[in-house]
Amino acid sequence: MSDQIDLARLSSLRELLQTHGFQFKKQLGQNFLVDARVLERIVDAADLIPGDGVFEIGPGAGVVTQVLAQQATQVVAVEKDRALAPVLDTSLAGLNNVKVVYADVLDVNLNEVWNEFSNCARVSVVANLPYYVTTPILFHLLESGVPLHNVVVMVQKEVADRLVSGPGTKDYGALSVAVQYYAEVDKVLRVHPGAFIPPPNVESEVVRLRVRKQPAVIVPDQTLFFRVVRAGFAMRRKTLLNNLSHSFGFTKPDCEHLLLCTGIEPRRRGETLSLDEFARLTSAIYEKLHSNKEYTP
Ligand code: SAM
Repeated sequence: MSDQIDLARLSSLRELLQTHGFQFKKQLGQNFLVDARVLERIVDAADLIPGDGVFEIGPGAGVVTQVLAQQATQVVAVEKDRALAPVLDTSLAGLNNVKVVYADVLDVNLNEVWNEFSNCARVSVVANLPYYVTTPILFHLLESGVPLHNVVVMVQKEVADRLVSGPGTKDYGALSVAVQYYAEVDKVLRVHPGAFIPPPNVESEVVRLRVRKQPAVIVPDQTLFFRVVRAGFAMRRKTLLNNLSHSFGFTKPDCEHLLLCTGIEPRRRGETLSLDEFARLTSAIYEKLHSNKEYTP
């Protein structure tokens, strides 16, 4: 790492933050990684090779960024907290392949940022995410349409459980279906609070999303698909018949007929449906809405 400050050493990180009078902001989810083994596993999970680009969300003091810069050809990091600018100027000094953008990542047009990666064969996302905004960030990435390779993110353990869950389990919900539509998800590593300063009051987990070239299922209308999924889970204890007839304004007999024609037992609950079944249901509802000429996804 030549003459960079080695932030994997806790004393160096503390000294750097102290020098710049940095105060942690809980509301920005600032829990900085201080465990070298976890850092190594996160970067390994991204499977970087020369020629790769990395988009990092929330570089903080630059602990992860420093390592990414050694393995990738180009790193673009988006940080919301401008108070970290003098810290990052110091920790990333001399790394010519890193660009830091100070902005809320949700306000960033990813298609514009992707121009920075024009020399990169593949682009992955690596981030120790601010937990308060995990779900919007995941959808901002997945729905942007930018070509992503791996997305390796630290999230709250409960969110990791939801991301990987399948039908019939208690953690399976609209988030599981929506993310699995775009990506194959697996857990990489469970992380204890002591791996961060300050320690968060929740357990964490690193997950990897391998983004699919094509979504997992074919649907006639993506907006309608997500609406059907949300409706299916609207009230978890209610049957599909109740949830769908209520959400789409169908009569119960009409809705029962639609479900039976789709091969889905009307008294099942949304939490038992596979992605494939949600897709079939979307096609049937699409047909029905079109034939009724009342189509507004
Ligand atoms: N990557 C660093 C590390 O691992 O030590 C810091 C991770 S910390 C959990 C989350 C970082 O995201 C903080 O630096 C925080 O300021 C930043 N952040 C919070 N909300 C953000 C947002 N909406 N857009 C971009 N960065 C954000």
